[in-house]
Amino acid sequence: MNLALQIEHYLPQQLLELARNISLEAERLGQKIYLVGGVVRDLLLGYPNFDLDLVIEGDAVELARRIAEISDTKLIIHPRFGTAKLSYSNFTLDMATARGETYARPGALPTVTPGSLNGDLFRRDFSINAMAISLNQNNYGELIDPYQGKNDLEHHLIRILHPRSFSDDATRILRAIRYEQRLEFELEPQTAQLLKRDIPMLNAISGDRVRHELELILRERYPEYAIKRLGELGVLQRINPSLNYDGWIAKKFDKARSLNKPSQLPLLYLCLLVYPLDEKGNEQFIHRLNIPKKLACALRDTLRLKSQLHLLDKSFLKYSEIYYLLHEYDLLAIQTNAIASESSVVCSNLELFLTKLRYVKTSLNGEELKRLGISAGPELGKILQILHKAKLDGEVKNKAEEEKLALLLKP
Ligand code: ATP
Repeated sequence: MNLALQIEHYLPQQLLELARNISLEAERLGQKIYLVGGVVRDLLLGYPNFDLDLVIEGDAVELARRIAEISDTKLIIHPRFGTAKLSYSNFTLDMATARGETYARPGALPTVTPGSLNGDLFRRDFSINAMAISLNQNNYGELIDPYQGKNDLEHHLIRILHPRSFSDDATRILRAIRYEQRLEFELEPQTAQLLKRDIPMLNAISGDRVRHELELILRERYPEYAIKRLGELGVLQRINPSLNYDGWIAKKFDKARSLNKPSQLPLLYLCLLVYPLDEKGNEQFIHRLNIPKKLACALRDTLRLKSQLHLLDKSFLKYSEIYYLLHEYDLLAIQTNAIASESSVVCSNLELFLTKLRYVKTSLNGEELKRLGISAGPELGKILQILHKAKLDGEVKNKAEEEKLALLLKP
């Protein structure tokens, strides 16, 4: 099957031109070049995806260097892995030397050896991701599909390439469910059986890799579908025994989408996922997924604030009270609680902090207070805080009123 026409139709002009130049340059170097992975799958499905992955039979780094010389681009190379990334203004090209992989033991990182396109496709996760399109001059546009990925796309099936696939790399369990739910496909029956059998192999996967796959799920448009499925299969519980799926999560993910920008959603979803956990469960989760420090603080703060929400369940609180109850919590923790709380009073106090109170600043600063004759030290800090509270509560409205109050407070 030749997809040259589809490529012309599908890729933006700028990208097409680049692909042609790369193809010519590869030919000059005696290399072969192929479009692979998600973009081939999405091209056949008619879905937009311009993150191009290219596999090169030959030295990808050498080719990428040549391309960088003749086009205006930023080049990042990883000589050890034989990969390079070319960044253009609105898309990126990933180039990799074709490689085969073997696994010393289940869950280990693979041993990588240079190889052919077919070997490179065989190390991939599912048949629908193991197709390539030739960008070479002699057969430009030809579909290379050794594992019947196109047939599986047509039958809406997620299929692994060999029975050891999930035990070699159990992150593929999370990936299978991500694609199944995103594309509304089904697991091919043997794949489903092996996936269930190999769920315990997730224990052999490092925290960073599990976290990466979970993050990819949380970047999906409706991650709750995959989370639900992972809960039903017992995968969530394998990651952390206290994790679970129930309708609450779907409701809260939906609310998160209605209140926040898309870029903020993945971290909010993660905090909502651990929201039902207790402190011990949360610590286990942080440890298991090797959560980076800043995010771990946000998760801890989320639960700490959850336990203090009763203090905010009052409609007559002064603005300064709301501010000083919340100002030391991580912003993500406050946003999460604003979504998670069932009390409308709590939610509106949290929203008030997020949208207004946290931006309120005094007009006077420490230097100006010193000029009014207040000496540096704890006293000055206290006066600044009183001014800030007065500003929050509308008791002072401008710099002159702040000065008046500061002089009254001067010891
Ligand atoms: P999308 O970005 O739409 O989710 P993608 O296919 O580009 O899809 P990536 O996670 O960027 O997904 O992976 C790129 C390609 O690398 C995949 O298409 C797949 O062929 C391969 N791949 C990624 N992770 C694995 C893995 N754990 N095992 C085998 N192959 C993998």
